[in-house]
Amino acid sequence: MTQPPDDSYRQPDRPTEERVENLLDSMTTAEKAGQLVGTWAGKLGLEQDVGDIKRAIRDHHLGLAAPFGWAGAHAQDIDDAVAAATELQRIATEETRLGIPLLLNADAVHGNAYVAGATVFPNNLGTAATWNPELVEDAAAITAVETRRVGAHQNYSPTCDVGRDPRWGRIFETFGESPRLCAAMAEAKVRGYQGDGIGDPDGVVATAKHFPAYSEPDRGEDASPVDVSEYKLRNVFLGPFESALDAGVASVMPSYNSINGEPTHGSSRLLRELLRDELGFEGHVVSDWNGVRHLHDDHRTASNRRDGVRQSRVAGLDVESVGHVEAAEHLVSLVEEGAVGEATLDESVRRILRLKFELGLFEDPYVELDTAHETLGHEDHRRVARDVSRQSMTLLKNDGLLPLTGEEDVFVGGPNADDLVHQLGGWSVQSPDGVPGKTIREALESRLGGSLTYEKGTTLNEERDIDAAVEKAAAADVAVLAVGEGWYLHEFGPSAQAGVDTGEWPTRSELHLPDAQRELVQRVQATGVPVVGVLVTGRPLIVDWMAEHVSAILMAYYPGSEGGVAVAETLFGENDPSGRLPVSIPQSMGDLPQHHDYLAHPRPIGEDEHPASYDPLYPFGHGLSYTAFEYETVTLPADPVGTEGTVGVTVSLSNVGNRTGTETIQVYARQQTSARVRPERTLVGFERVELDPGESVEQTVSVPASAFGYYRPPDGHVVEPGEYRVFVEEHESSVRIDNQSA
Ligand code: BGC
Repeated sequence: MTQPPDDSYRQPDRPTEERVENLLDSMTTAEKAGQLVGTWAGKLGLEQDVGDIKRAIRDHHLGLAAPFGWAGAHAQDIDDAVAAATELQRIATEETRLGIPLLLNADAVHGNAYVAGATVFPNNLGTAATWNPELVEDAAAITAVETRRVGAHQNYSPTCDVGRDPRWGRIFETFGESPRLCAAMAEAKVRGYQGDGIGDPDGVVATAKHFPAYSEPDRGEDASPVDVSEYKLRNVFLGPFESALDAGVASVMPSYNSINGEPTHGSSRLLRELLRDELGFEGHVVSDWNGVRHLHDDHRTASNRRDGVRQSRVAGLDVESVGHVEAAEHLVSLVEEGAVGEATLDESVRRILRLKFELGLFEDPYVELDTAHETLGHEDHRRVARDVSRQSMTLLKNDGLLPLTGEEDVFVGGPNADDLVHQLGGWSVQSPDGVPGKTIREALESRLGGSLTYEKGTTLNEERDIDAAVEKAAAADVAVLAVGEGWYLHEFGPSAQAGVDTGEWPTRSELHLPDAQRELVQRVQATGVPVVGVLVTGRPLIVDWMAEHVSAILMAYYPGSEGGVAVAETLFGENDPSGRLPVSIPQSMGDLPQHHDYLAHPRPIGEDEHPASYDPLYPFGHGLSYTAFEYETVTLPADPVGTEGTVGVTVSLSNVGNRTGTETIQVYARQQTSARVRPERTLVGFERVELDPGESVEQTVSVPASAFGYYRPPDGHVVEPGEYRVFVEEHESSVRIDNQSA
């Protein structure tokens, strides 16, 4: 092994590019290849052999590791997380020739939720229901610091996938069905994660995933093919990735699936031509888990795994996240035989080294245990999580029962009333030990003046003691039933098979509540006690029976560690529900796909005979408040607005109820006549406004004219001059957009 000619790459005062080149010059092919491959170390110290990982780093120069999360039944505690990060960095920096620190990765998608004690925000679907990007940015900054303090540098988040199919088990990870809302949330998350830039010691590297079209898979089955037209790809799926790129996202993860027959991990058309050449991405592309192996094992577009490594490298992949030693060895031999060019290899190595220098890892790769303990789950952080949970609460129905007075005798039941792990939802610890926060039952109990009785009645899909639940409910003034779904890895096995979960493979071909839960709700309702249904779920469930029969329905999503408190505060009226649905709730499976921005089309026989294309149980954007808002006028610019200009939509809005509340002004648009078929209406802008009782405001929502445009193949993004109809609540008006105007 040769010694480096000089070690000036270690001098922090030298320009980063010089340090990168100096180090690169000193590296062997094996050292370079190793820097581009990661290994999983998630059960380090539990079941995983530290010796194997040590050999991978020391002898095969692996440059990345993922020591956080998915420790099976165990919640990883802060001490274990920090110890794992410290040991891995020690091996890399002290036991290798060049001492290059590791880049450590985490899936902190709604808080660093795999580490016990961390602040856990609602999962993304709930987060999107806040329609509050500023708050989401704050939440992401908290996630970043709680992730960084245990030693991770890169976060595999945000999800930029637009959630178009509720059968898909990962819809809870999306920000819903609207490209615009998803884009706003993705951008906010990137800003929050990366803070002042890669050198920010409180920030983490953000990863926009899963590029470019993952979320409308065949049959709703995860990772199944996506056959997508250029038109839909550009107009529905790419927007949130473009926003993440605009916000400076430093990493992109390709999707597992094939797109129009090409697996993304092996597609130079998608990873080089689209992502780099056209969208101008300069950061690093990191594979999804086994994304490269799939090229041979599943997609069968590679003749063996080594050929898969070749394909992915030629396509433009920089890092294979968990390729282990096998992938590193393949890469070395591919470079040696010329199947992967030296220049290609070097380009990727530069990207990773640059990142490690910018992160300051060569100066100090370690973290302090004390600081980690002080940071994770800090009360200030939990306060923000509480705000996100509160603002996500979406009241779907209320016949006047809510808010409760707090003096009632309340019965609480259902599988999700007293289950913190289900409340956290996916990408979180699978055991409630050490998780801060209260369940819905606990939070109700601590606020209630009257008495509280509890009986679960049923698990997610199996009856337990429905009779006992019914008896207790009948004796109460009101019954709160928390029903829904769970994270598939929690009640892994029977419940996952029965399809009542969300996650990477629990596709659901049925969106009603499982029989046992339906039985619980119907029998409690039959006692005559007023029922409040609380939906703790990762997807829009078809709750048609409940919509017709129960008194109130609160959509809580997976509300996180503070979600129990947020639900209780909402039921008791301390929190006005201001969440609005980021996704449509369909009436039936047969109506799918069901989203607000469906394309205009003819009704061949006639309106009456042809059912409406968008007729959901609860529409996108829906959500009730305890107060009432009135939209008096909506004013648009009288003169034409230039294609580069901004359309100011001025709304005069009053709170005509008797409580303080927050309304989200939602601006939808339709182009009157367009060169291609466009949506009947699509969300183009939004803004939250808090109003006291009797208060009125004139609020202008500024919508860039570009948001009225679309991608028109083969011309690119265009804003066609002409008339646009604008809808705000029941108001409809129009604006002209013109090439000539200022
Ligand atoms: C998921 C990614 C995730 C990765 C690492 C994959 O199976 O698709 O979203 O970041 O695992 O945990």
